[in-house]
Amino acid sequence: MQNAPGREKRVNLIMIGPPGAGKGTQAERIAHERSVPRISTGDILREAIQQGTPLGLRAKAIVERGDLVSDDVMIGVVQERLERPDTRRGFVLDGFPRTVPQAEALDEMLDGRGPLIIIEMVVPAAELDKRMTARRICRDCGTNAEPADTKCSRCGGEIVARADDGQAAVRTRRQGVYTRQTKPILDYYRQRPTFRTINGEQEPDRVSAALTAAIDSALETASSSR
Ligand code: AMP
Repeated sequence: MQNAPGREKRVNLIMIGPPGAGKGTQAERIAHERSVPRISTGDILREAIQQGTPLGLRAKAIVERGDLVSDDVMIGVVQERLERPDTRRGFVLDGFPRTVPQAEALDEMLDGRGPLIIIEMVVPAAELDKRMTARRICRDCGTNAEPADTKCSRCGGEIVARADDGQAAVRTRRQGVYTRQTKPILDYYRQRPTFRTINGEQEPDRVSAALTAAIDSALETASSSR
């Protein structure tokens, strides 16, 4: 493992895919494997909502109806998070950028911090709603859980469905928001040598293997074109 290609390199990674594609699970695994933080803007917002912070109060209704929080708020949240020292060796961003202005702002934030690896996760539409309906998290700490779990493996908290996964209308709205507002960022990134697409429909271990291979190949391309 120690000498595997790319493990010692800085990894700046973003994961793009529709709600239910499995970004959270895969982002968590890859962040662990590369020893970098997973930064989920959805988790940051859910925690802020739960704690009733100013950010949470501002975001609550928007998140619950399945719309996007404004670009300036989200850019501020991510900028502040990327300034923390634990991102020195890189990061896995899960759920950001979600709009072209967010993608442009990220490029500015990363100026001089090494290449950005962009992973698109593709899952057929018919599969997404099933996955969102089955998805469970810990009510207290937000950790992903399996549908059969009764207690959180991390904090012992109660396992529940996400508030924005419960209603069919909200799920449909979030898929529409992805198509209209987030999919255009694929065109923003597609021509970059570090852009990769992986099949997210396979079982999770195979997705992880494909993700690892895509990251190593993107790092290789980035270092040979420097
Ligand atoms: P997620 O956990 O990534 O599915 O995010 C849950 C919800 O948080 C989304 O449906 C949005 O309402 C909000 N959200 C998360 N990330 C962003 C972002 N980058 N821009 C705008 N809203 C976001």
